[in-house]
Amino acid sequence: MGSLRVKPLEPPGKEIMEFRLSDEVLQFKESVKEFAKNEIRPSAEERDLSGEWDWNLWKKMGAMGLLGLSVPEEFGGSGANCLMTSVAHEAFAEGSADGGLTLALGAHAIIGTMPIALLGTDFQKKKYLPKLATGEYTSGLGLTEPGSGSDAAGSMETRAVKKGDKYIINGSKMYITNGPIGDLFVVMAVTDKSKGPMGISVFIVEKNFPGFKVGKKLKKMGMRTSQTSELIFEDMEVPEENRIERENSGFARVGRATLEWERTVLVAASIGSMQFMIDEGVKYAKQRLQFGEPIIRFQAIQDKIARSKMKLDASRLLIYKSATKKDLGLSAPIESSIAKLYCTEAANEIAYDMGQIHGGYCYIHEYPIERAYRDARLGTIGGGTSEIMRSIIAANT
Ligand SMILES: Cc1cc2nc3c(=O)[nH]c(=O)nc-3n(C[C@H](O)[C@H](O)[C@H](O)COP(=O)(O)OP(=O)(O)OC[C@H]3O[C@@H](n4cnc5c(N)ncnc54)[C@H](O)[C@@H]3O)c2cc1C
Repeated sequence: MGSLRVKPLEPPGKEIMEFRLSDEVLQFKESVKEFAKNEIRPSAEERDLSGEWDWNLWKKMGAMGLLGLSVPEEFGGSGANCLMTSVAHEAFAEGSADGGLTLALGAHAIIGTMPIALLGTDFQKKKYLPKLATGEYTSGLGLTEPGSGSDAAGSMETRAVKKGDKYIINGSKMYITNGPIGDLFVVMAVTDKSKGPMGISVFIVEKNFPGFKVGKKLKKMGMRTSQTSELIFEDMEVPEENRIERENSGFARVGRATLEWERTVLVAASIGSMQFMIDEGVKYAKQRLQFGEPIIRFQAIQDKIARSKMKLDASRLLIYKSATKKDLGLSAPIESSIAKLYCTEAANEIAYDMGQIHGGYCYIHEYPIERAYRDARLGTIGGGTSEIMRSIIAANT
């Protein structure tokens, strides 16, 4: 029963069953997809192999408005709601076929920026959001530590101690997306150990703060076009004015609000990736001849395509439902957990099936299904594992 010890988050919310994408959103989706297909996809294979970061592409994404999409207009963004932002990440993933860069976008625009946009002070919003919206600053989130992952709040070791008008932070954060390239990180640290998960605070940390260090870049299986590292804090000085929300309210307020965005918008990217993988699988199945006919004529191949399409459609509805609930001003802890669990597992299954359709080419770099297969693997781990999603859903059912 260990995994069911998670406390219920809140009473069931209002059921959301109706939503539609306006013409404006559909046009925007198409323009993001085209941009990603023309500007990002051509170099995705090469960047995946080299693991190199391309600032030029990041600048183009900034110019396209993608880096500050959900930042309010008064702070230089587009003020897009959760549904519009989800659709943009879906379209970017589909068009680019670049899971890593889509992850870097999500780490910056959602988990590294939304805590400030949603809960920051006026001072913090004015100081940081305009730079984050244009991409002048790149951001990320520092929650996971070498010794604390699924039990992020309970096992957190990073400490912040108040000294005058500053906090002195010691500790480290593990697997941080955008770590090696970021200018700013939203970092969680324990301010009152006796309160457990209710004794955590959230800080905006700049890379030039004394005591901030970036660990070595991690070599990854997939998402290789994103940059990942440890962050190390040695007597790092953070001004009190950089604390988001009240002391000790970090996990309950900032964490929860941000995780719902993460489990909706970042997971929306997996829908775009599923669409891309299915299109690749169908294309290959139509042109590959075996036993004298295209393999798409074989029922075993049609079964994979049909089941994948069914999972894609169900995934899309779950994400749009979760996003719509957030846009109605309701929290969506269960919807976003269900969406995260279902979509990321479906993406792995589709990667397997569409890879299987490619036969030996599934194993060869120059076929994009190989990269998509590796990229999909992170989905059921990052941002809360499938096992943890199941615990949350079961505890709230
Ligand atoms: C490429 C990459 C990018 C990432 N980016 C970021 C980032 O930008 N910022 C950030 O803060 N973190 C980031 N992460 C960290 C990610 O969110 C964690 O890896 C994830 O939350 C799991 O934590 P863990 O790796 O410590 O696994 P663990 O928590 O050690 O889990 C190991 C296994 O035990 C299972 N398990 C643990 N507890 C339970 C339980 N109660 N019941 C059942 N099973 C359980 C897990 O499901 C898993 O299968 C990233 C990770 C990767 C790999």
